[in-house]
Amino acid sequence: MTTSTFVKLDGIAKRWNGQLGVEGITLDIPEGSFTALLGPSGCGKSTTLRLLAGLELPDEGQILIDGKDVTTSAASDRNLSMVFQSYALFPHLSVAENVMFGLKVRRVPKQERLEKLHRALEITGLLGYEGRKPGELSGGQRQRVALARAIVAGQRLCLMDEPLSNLDAKLRNAVRKDIKKLQRDLGITVVYVTHDQTEAMSMADTVVLMKDGHIQQVGSPEDLYSRPNNTFVAEFVGAPPMALIESTALEGFGDDKTIGIRAENIQIVPAGTGRMRCKVNESEFLGAETLIGLDHDGTSGLCVLQPGLSLMPEGDEVEINFDDGNLHVFDDAGKRLAG
Ligand code: ADP
Ligand code: MG
Repeated sequence: MTTSTFVKLDGIAKRWNGQLGVEGITLDIPEGSFTALLGPSGCGKSTTLRLLAGLELPDEGQILIDGKDVTTSAASDRNLSMVFQSYALFPHLSVAENVMFGLKVRRVPKQERLEKLHRALEITGLLGYEGRKPGELSGGQRQRVALARAIVAGQRLCLMDEPLSNLDAKLRNAVRKDIKKLQRDLGITVVYVTHDQTEAMSMADTVVLMKDGHIQQVGSPEDLYSRPNNTFVAEFVGAPPMALIESTALEGFGDDKTIGIRAENIQIVPAGTGRMRCKVNESEFLGAETLIGLDHDGTSGLCVLQPGLSLMPEGDEVEINFDDGNLHVFDDAGKRLAG
């Protein structure tokens, strides 16, 4: 992957009648990278993508694509393709006609259209389906048609807004891998919107985590997981989420901090040897491991993972231990302190 910036958002803000969409969005997106815009519903992911696409105009800030200022350019002048949650396929057109629709509109010669179609269907595993109508395809195949359509557009930048949320879990996993492979093979720059942290963490080189119209953290999946900027990031990224403990519940941390700890860093230990005494509040078999939820005053989301099937009765008392080196310390505003 190269590190030269392909897309630049600088101080972007968008409001509707004073109501905030996004604010202070500044981002450098390297060429050939996969960037995920992640966050809960309403945090401004789609707004950011639509601003980048030219479907909305910002109130403040500047947008550059490939070094060119496109802040006020029409969507059609931005040289990008888009894939949305709803496939937006024409129901009365065949797979081939749907994929080639844009090329036809742009009066690309027929021979070239057919070559591009063949290549796109090959890449998306849709050869043989040319003549089918969208109604004769599964959800996953329809999403592939939408991908094929984006591929034939031949643009170096592709924007995707929750393209997999209509698919069932198994299919979502498969298409996730397809998209990732496509992006790598074609070397295109993808900006991908999702509210699903697993999706963002598994696909993206860079994750941009947003909340209430503002960026909370930009980094690799590993950065966000192991060095969350604040308690929001700590709780949003990772499954199970990081547990948060009031510093007063632990010795030596003062009384105005929040301490974070992940399940994999907590051990259940024999009585009399632990740092904290807890009560089991739930026990959930996940397959390879069992998640044991724990209650203790001043904590939220405390849990521990035990190998295999190891359910524990609700209400049981256990003691837990953890190393200081695995703790994350946040100030009274929830901001990460050094370490
Ligand atoms: P996300 O995609 O992260 O779920 P959106 O970007 O769609 O969130 O929305 C961000 C915020 O902007 C929300 O509060 C939403 O209500 C608001 N918003 C989005 N589009 C419009 C619009 N066209 N008019 C008014 N408010 C909007
Ligand atoms: Mg959205």
